[in-house]
Amino acid sequence: MRMILSDLDGTLLDSAYRFDAARPALECCRKKGALLVPVSSKTLPEMAYWSRELALPPAFSYENGFGIAFREAQPAWLKPRVLDRYGYRFQGTAREAPGWRVWEQEIGSATERIRQLLERFPKGTVRFATELSAKEWVRITGLSPELAEKARRRRGIPPLWISPEVRSQVVQAFREAGFRVGRGRFFVTVAPYDKGTVAEALVRALRARHPHARVLALGDQPADEAMAPYVDRFVKVHGPKEWNRVVWTWLACDGGEP
Ligand SMILES: [Mg+2]
Repeated sequence: MRMILSDLDGTLLDSAYRFDAARPALECCRKKGALLVPVSSKTLPEMAYWSRELALPPAFSYENGFGIAFREAQPAWLKPRVLDRYGYRFQGTAREAPGWRVWEQEIGSATERIRQLLERFPKGTVRFATELSAKEWVRITGLSPELAEKARRRRGIPPLWISPEVRSQVVQAFREAGFRVGRGRFFVTVAPYDKGTVAEALVRALRARHPHARVLALGDQPADEAMAPYVDRFVKVHGPKEWNRVVWTWLACDGGEP
């Protein structure tokens, strides 16, 4: 059994949100029965959209480790109960992603603690990304207005937009306060969980059924490196062309290099 935990933006998707160059390796994943599980900072409705584009992976993780969604009610390839140990609670189905069953972290008072820490910084230099207007989202991320709307619908702790001149101080303040900090391309996630949390939970749950399962993780940003300690191999990948090459080689697909 093989599983690939993959970031989307800048990793499997290029800057124009395309992944055509990765199609040979995606097809090889399907042929070999390798599990592709996207692990993204995107939201549940965005990931439901991308899952259709990617021909429905068995599961995906959204909002930087906050949630995991499964296509099947009883996925046979892992032991869902193991996810509990890592803070994931079964929430049933969600309106934003019809058909998917979701498990999510409990946030508790974390958002309030984040707000308190943000008061240390000059007004306007750090904001919850959900407080930016739809227009600002489109400008910052390059998403279409329709996808930007999906991106703003957060279920967990919203990521932060941080002005460059205070970025390193903000990151340090949150680390010192015990938060996990995930630096992405446009936003920074501060939360009690990160992509490492979801990687550890999924790997343990998978190995509870398949003790010898091999796991590859791929990402382009520091936030993705959080997955590295829990997998057999982590590779920094920038875009679908590189993604294709790395996955093709790791799965030992037929025909040598694509
Ligand atoms: Mg990325």
